[in-house]
Amino acid sequence: MTPLIELKHVDKSFVLESGNTLNVLEGIDISLNEGEVLALLGPSGSGKSTCLRIMSGLVAQTDGDVFAEGHPLDGINENVAMVFQSFALFPWETVYDNIALALKPMGLSPSEVKARSLKAIDLVGLEGFEEAYPRELSGGMKQRVGIARAIVMDRPVIFLDEPFSALDVLTADTLRSEMVKIFLSGKTASKSMLLVTHNIQEAVVMAKRILIMGVNPGHIRHEIKNDLPYPRDASSPAFAMIVNQLHGLVTETLIPDIAEIPTTATPGGASTTHMEMLPNVQVSEMIGFLEALHAKGGTADIFELSRSTGREFAQTLFLVKAAEFLELVDSPKQTVVLMESGKSFVLGDINTRKKILHELFGNLDIVRRITELLKQSETLRLPATIITEKLQEWLPQENADAQMSVLIGWGRFAEYFGYNDDLKEVYLDVGQEAS
Ligand code: ADP
Ligand code: MG
Repeated sequence: MTPLIELKHVDKSFVLESGNTLNVLEGIDISLNEGEVLALLGPSGSGKSTCLRIMSGLVAQTDGDVFAEGHPLDGINENVAMVFQSFALFPWETVYDNIALALKPMGLSPSEVKARSLKAIDLVGLEGFEEAYPRELSGGMKQRVGIARAIVMDRPVIFLDEPFSALDVLTADTLRSEMVKIFLSGKTASKSMLLVTHNIQEAVVMAKRILIMGVNPGHIRHEIKNDLPYPRDASSPAFAMIVNQLHGLVTETLIPDIAEIPTTATPGGASTTHMEMLPNVQVSEMIGFLEALHAKGGTADIFELSRSTGREFAQTLFLVKAAEFLELVDSPKQTVVLMESGKSFVLGDINTRKKILHELFGNLDIVRRITELLKQSETLRLPATIITEKLQEWLPQENADAQMSVLIGWGRFAEYFGYNDDLKEVYLDVGQEAS
């Protein structure tokens, strides 16, 4: 039987801005067969997502071959639908429209779009939520929308990239079993699933075959078959045996990566390694944006605001996200609303503004981690390259150099971090040192 997708001796490297080459994948062989649930299990940075991107045609391999149903893959792989960790929903569209929009490029008749969307909604248990907006939903419900949006496309392969790692433990458990149940029900067009995860339990609950990846550069170290019958009972001795076996293999894989970051506790009690970044916007842009919003009475339609400030919609959305991330604004549906902190910021003088931002910026997880790093160094300062490396590790999806310049820009304004241009060193601003 021809595999649905196949990678043969695939290598991938990226040329970084510094001009250096980063080897990310080496000698990767993967075949995804019909009827399979395959998992790629490996630590962060082992190239799992890059494998998925190559298999979906979003990124080209540097060397080796990629086949879709036996033919060399050329461009986007039309056999694949994707479920993302970040849900990737349109905040201003309803649940129904978020799902139906996936069908837009296909040029189907309205009745077909409706029939398929309603069927997907039914399969993932979202009946009654059709008219809700993403921000009215819990994380678990949002990911049900993400799953429905993949199912509705009727593609033979579903890719899931760390699909449940942003959810609390119980919700993630429920969704894993449900995803398997939906897949096995035969009610979808999907013949295979490919799961990317760093969670052993998740791989054992869902996958029939597990490939364990190692780092530097990413490669496949082991292949494990998992023939436990579905639905899988996580409390059974057989389940525990496979988990233990994988644990041993993964730990061995992890040794070069032992400097794992500590997980932080979230208010909900669950621990998470999921970290968000500050969108790539400048402090000065943010100030202009908040002032424009205040001038409109503190609330505005995002589309309208983007038109009236003459910005690209995407750039406005970044600003809204950054401001929301810092808790300066709220963005129910398509509206953006200045919060109390945002209002005080606009009305304040430069010192008040710095003070407000000092506090809000300091609350960000990523800022806390960098602060910890700096505090661990004797002189409270570190070469910028060390922090850039850490950023690369924590946020492998982001461009670390760009993140670094955003963080330094904001850190300077907020008087949180300083940067010495001559020494290329980042240091904790005064006042931070004592705390
Ligand atoms: P995983 O999903 O296993 O965490 P990724 O495939 O996301 O790993 O990344 C593997 C490595 O490739 C990481 O070191 C990451 O920083 C790097 N990387 C991924 N995409 C790019 C890119 N577009 N440019 C430069 N480096 C990248
Ligand atoms: Mg990844």
